[in-house]
Amino acid sequence: MKSIYFDNAATTPVRKEVFTAMKPYFSTYFGNPSSLHAKGLEARDAVEEARKLIAEILNCATDELIFTSGGTESVNLAIKGIAFARKKGHIITQKTEHDAVLETCKWLEKQGFELTYLNVDEFGLVKPEQVEKHIRKDTILVSIMYANNEIGTIQPIKEIAEVCRKHEVLFHTDACQAAGYLDMDVKNLGIDLMTINGSKIYGPKGVGLLFIKKGIEIEPLLHGGGQEYGLRSGTENVPAIVGFAKALELAQKEKVTEVQRLTALQDRLVSGLQRIADSKLNGHPQKRLPNNVNVSIYGVEGEAVLLMLNEKGICASTGSACSTKSLEASHVLLAMGMSHEMAHGSLRFSLGKHTKEKDISRLMKVLPGIVKKLRDMSPIKAEVRNG
Ligand SMILES: *Cc1c(COP(=O)(O)O)cnc(C)c1O
Repeated sequence: MKSIYFDNAATTPVRKEVFTAMKPYFSTYFGNPSSLHAKGLEARDAVEEARKLIAEILNCATDELIFTSGGTESVNLAIKGIAFARKKGHIITQKTEHDAVLETCKWLEKQGFELTYLNVDEFGLVKPEQVEKHIRKDTILVSIMYANNEIGTIQPIKEIAEVCRKHEVLFHTDACQAAGYLDMDVKNLGIDLMTINGSKIYGPKGVGLLFIKKGIEIEPLLHGGGQEYGLRSGTENVPAIVGFAKALELAQKEKVTEVQRLTALQDRLVSGLQRIADSKLNGHPQKRLPNNVNVSIYGVEGEAVLLMLNEKGICASTGSACSTKSLEASHVLLAMGMSHEMAHGSLRFSLGKHTKEKDISRLMKVLPGIVKKLRDMSPIKAEVRNG
């Protein structure tokens, strides 16, 4: 039995074209981009070609792009880098951010920075007016994600960026989940800093970038050889950077058709799930990523469903990769006002490039039976039955 992978929001397989592009940079072109000989220049050229390619896609200059080891590092560089450059001040973020943002902000709070964590509505949305209301004289940065990794909700980042610009506050967006599906033009979006990574767009893991608009003062987190315009020391991960650029190029090229294809599959899955009684689609009905379906099923534990799906060869998730390690309810769903019970019964199916209609059909063939079995065993359900 072939397994079905519904966890593309956690990570995606490296696509063939990407792997092919990367391979020579492990062996033939193994040089250190900082070396002045031919081997070094080959590697340097590859990194700079990758940077140029990405700069065209994001509509920015090459020296506005810093390669990092992934989404987490880029977020840390953005938020701590700005905080350290300003030395003190107030930062605004919101409650459904990825832990990379939330934990960085919590740590900065301990260092003396002041933080505001904005509430979200029942769909997981932040309103630009909310951001504006909380901007103070000493606000140095606003960090609001482009699209949520658990529920797929797309934030109005263009409008939020406009508010920030009006008040001369820097705006960072964590766009790791958005890169394959949404507009990535930083000029059109009007943003100052943006994080993307390779592992969510069929590129390699352990590589990402931070876009930093020219003229913004930022402190590096890593000190050393001065690579990446002095903002990220350390020998560049050349194969990963080459693969990341290739992945982004392909994602950009295929965006329109892939969004259309996935939206149709998403609709199919959502209507299939509606046949399960006492279940609810989480996130925004329209403002959501085309590959995300997050559902709460009352009276079952998400983890129990996952294990039973896994036995049937179906890989899904309860939400973020981090929240599966602890059995705490998702901070995202709780922030949306969901009860602990409903949050514990949540499942995330994240579709991808390899998802076919027949995969959705197979899921819908087994899921109702699993839910019924678990509900029959569940004390909560018995309580509901008994009033
Ligand atoms: C995956 C992800 C990250 C972390 O990226 P890594 O490359 O794993 O460090 C940060 N933010 C969001 C929204 C993500 O989906």
